[in-house]
Amino acid sequence: MPLSALLFDCDGVLVDSEIVGLADAAMFLQSRGFSWSAQEVITRFTGMRSDLFVANLRESYAAILGRSPDEAELADLVSGLLETRRAQLHTMTLVAGATMAVRTAGEVFAGRIAVASSSGKAQLADKMSRFGLAGHFGPHIYSADDVERGKPYPDIFLHAAAALGVAPATTLIIEDSVNGVLAARRAGAEVWGFVGGGHCAADHAQQLTESGASRIVADHDDLATQLRELS
Ligand SMILES: [Mg+2]
Repeated sequence: MPLSALLFDCDGVLVDSEIVGLADAAMFLQSRGFSWSAQEVITRFTGMRSDLFVANLRESYAAILGRSPDEAELADLVSGLLETRRAQLHTMTLVAGATMAVRTAGEVFAGRIAVASSSGKAQLADKMSRFGLAGHFGPHIYSADDVERGKPYPDIFLHAAAALGVAPATTLIIEDSVNGVLAARRAGAEVWGFVGGGHCAADHAQQLTESGASRIVADHDDLATQLRELS
């Protein structure tokens, strides 16, 4: 079946946001008894909407520390993590070549491109305008706030495909996270794993492939080349 539209994830694909505050977040978690490396934090939590993130953190807390957290402890953990990230937000950049790859995707898919992100609506709009990306997508910028369930559920991709007027099975999704790749596969879409973000370690490609990515994209130059080969 030919591909008819392309959906970009935002964080870790267009905007290099997953690396922001990552080392500090891992250190903060270690100080609270979670012996996760920065890489484990990435695998576990990236691509997740905040409600699923908090649920996952609660389960992990019980599994690791042997008891469920009370609400104050959980709130303290979440606010501590948010604060480590907020303190580093000024370091956030565009992933190199993202604007060029978005332009190429627009040409290859005759304008049928969208952003489908786990980010909240206001934060997503801010990132899109801050990095000059909004104009490439018109109205097709979709946030996890637009749907009932966040990634790894497929809702955001089904929503974006419907808005573009295409069947999910004919969409190509560019994702950097395990949760996002799982969501794309559950939507019945083709998904390519993007490993050009600052947070991607050597085994990231293998993780995305094992989760269902049909191809790996090294960076935005590679993405533009592979997209042109489709047309
Ligand atoms: Mg992402």
